[in-house]
Amino acid sequence: MVASRLPHPTAPDVKESPVPSPLTGGCLCGAVRYRCDGEPQSVGLCQCDRCQRQSGSSFLIAVVFDRDAVSIEGELQPYTARIDGERELTRHFCPRCGSAVMVTLDRYPGIRSMMGGTLDDKSAIRPTFSLWCSSGQGWLELPAGIERFPDYPDGLIA
Ligand SMILES: [Zn+2]
Ligand SMILES: [Zn+2]
Repeated sequence: MVASRLPHPTAPDVKESPVPSPLTGGCLCGAVRYRCDGEPQSVGLCQCDRCQRQSGSSFLIAVVFDRDAVSIEGELQPYTARIDGERELTRHFCPRCGSAVMVTLDRYPGIRSMMGGTLDDKSAIRPTFSLWCSSGQGWLELPAGIERFPDYPDGLIA
């Protein structure tokens, strides 16, 4: 008997279909819910050591929206750190269940970076690039179609 298999994760029709709007999501316990209107500006991964630590995983998925396109219900706890001694990056998490929900950056005050793992419909997004591949875990091989950067170049927002 042949075990049933999940469909291949890179189904060809996903990229062509528009991102459904609004996108909704929330934390693990449900105390925090959000919705994002319109199309994301970008969808990217970050493999830096800080994102690995906060996510407890191998990368973070950043789904970037205009600040005004995102509405949030519930309380988020901020944790702010300085990157390279200057830029501030704030990670917003649910104080009850600890889920990473959002990142904001003083460098790009007009955006909110929503964590892709908290989306209700994760088939709606397709990352197109990854930052900090130089810090990535050795076993991780990203699929073709995801542009790889060793660090965080100017001009990209994640
Ligand atoms: Zn929660
Ligand atoms: Zn990172």
